[in-house]
Amino acid sequence: MSTLTHLECPECGRIFDPEQPQTFCPDCESPLLARYDLTAAAVSLSPEIMASRPRGLWRWHEILPVRDAAHRYTLGEGDTPLLPTPRLAERLGVQHLWVKDEAQNPTGTFKARGLVMAVSRAVELGLREFVIPTAGNAGGALAAYAARAGAKAHVFMPKDAPMVNKAEVQAAGADLVLVDGLISDAGRLAAQEAQKHGWWSVSTFKEPYRVEGKKTMGLEIAEAFGWQLPDVIFYPTGGGTGLVGMWKAFDELEALGWIGPKRPRLVSVQAEGCAPIVRAFHEGAERARPWENARTIAAGLRVPSVFADRLILRALRETQGTAVAVSDEEILAAQHQLASLEGIFAAPEGAATLAGLQRLLRQGWIQPDEKIVLFNTGSGLKYVNL
Ligand SMILES: *Cc1c(COP(=O)(O)O)cnc(C)c1O
Ligand SMILES: [Zn+2]
Repeated sequence: MSTLTHLECPECGRIFDPEQPQTFCPDCESPLLARYDLTAAAVSLSPEIMASRPRGLWRWHEILPVRDAAHRYTLGEGDTPLLPTPRLAERLGVQHLWVKDEAQNPTGTFKARGLVMAVSRAVELGLREFVIPTAGNAGGALAAYAARAGAKAHVFMPKDAPMVNKAEVQAAGADLVLVDGLISDAGRLAAQEAQKHGWWSVSTFKEPYRVEGKKTMGLEIAEAFGWQLPDVIFYPTGGGTGLVGMWKAFDELEALGWIGPKRPRLVSVQAEGCAPIVRAFHEGAERARPWENARTIAAGLRVPSVFADRLILRALRETQGTAVAVSDEEILAAQHQLASLEGIFAAPEGAATLAGLQRLLRQGWIQPDEKIVLFNTGSGLKYVNL
């Protein structure tokens, strides 16, 4: 059973009823965060129980928002491997390096984790028609999970999004609208159409449950490290769902009594051609200004306006983390290195984390004996243009 109790605005503390469909805090324009009765959860749960359950993200259902098992839709997402990468580590001169390989999720990216949760909970609350603005992969994941749940999806995508993303959306029978512009332009159009037709928007952080799905990455990492946590986690940041999700996961695990107060330093990696979080972090700002003329081959990082900017920046600062931008040339070189040294054909976004690690090693920000996790958020296969 889910121990979900309420939704909360992290800025003003206002409480929202989780049994109604909710979007974001209208006063603060802030995402809402799901809160659970972790005292109750701690009584019935233990690391041993979690380990004994069938693999997949739903084994954490007590601290996820879906109440009825009938609405736990699945395509086999979650419990992706944490791959040691000794050859790459040796090349970089570090001792402990892993890649959390999210490419092995359904639809080939970690977007599956967020969308399975948003769709499952929304269907549980009676919603049947969805809309999403997307750089590409979130649209593919929404289309797949909407099909799985017998619901309808409308996907608004930049017309220069990767070809595979268009194909997977259409294959799943979703309605695909190609937009002349970026994800922010797709967002404006999607919002208008959603209003007009009464569709439910699962746009990043505009509803409270995608981040709950992404949170399971933090739970899995904590479990894989024997409830000790690594020293540094590199996350390629577009809208920041996974970064905020993992940060939230660690707080919940501490409340459950399964981990202590120590946190990994969270590192946000962006592309030089679209780095609003990196700029805001180094300016010491609380908010990130929209990035002009965003361009990068890492489509998922081409997010000029970041709705959860305050939460992302707080997560980086509270964990003594940092933010780093890398060039498309560094991303391509890193992609080649990961594939040729370890057999991991990463999405450009995933490869960006390796480029970010190389930069921070040169700056002396990371010590060679620290435990480092890179997030490969998707498969390189999704970016092949034939
Ligand atoms: C969407 C996406 C990202 C960025 O994820 P956010 O949670 O929006 O920051 C990174 N990598 C890939 C492959 C993506 O599809
Ligand atoms: Zn608020």
